[in-house]
Amino acid sequence: MDLSLLNRESLTQDSNKYHAILFENDILTTCGFLIDIKNFSLSNQKQVRIIYKNHSLGFLKKFYKNYDRVIFQFESDLQLDQLGFLIFFKKSAFECLHCKKYFNMSDLHEKCCELIHSPIKLVNPSLDRIEIYNKITPNMNYQPKEEFISLHFATIMDKILLD
Ligand SMILES: [Zn+2]
Repeated sequence: MDLSLLNRESLTQDSNKYHAILFENDILTTCGFLIDIKNFSLSNQKQVRIIYKNHSLGFLKKFYKNYDRVIFQFESDLQLDQLGFLIFFKKSAFECLHCKKYFNMSDLHEKCCELIHSPIKLVNPSLDRIEIYNKITPNMNYQPKEEFISLHFATIMDKILLD
């Protein structure tokens, strides 16, 4: 597998193995997350599920760090070559790069801004899952961010129930 041919936006097939670039240092993901790969611990990534058409294809098999990139690999007999994917993260400390505000896990107060359109730098991130799509619309790009925000901040509905 020639790693220099890999793509950040879509999967590359080599027999039944798929590879793609998960993220590159100092480059925002399509969903607006920034990851410093020095702080990306490969051993932190456990049981990262691959989802396609609402079905689990199993778990990610391997991660590599290659210069300033993190690359992932999984196996499947399906035809997924050139398909796009979205990366979903677990709850973690983060910084809103728009407001320069840091949030740790135990101290979640009000949001600094709506966050959806702000770049978010993840601190020691863990992947939850990767969802594969035939076509990623600009609208879908917000799904990982929306989910991440909802993991950290109570919704208006939650607040009504708590009061
Ligand atoms: Zn903010």
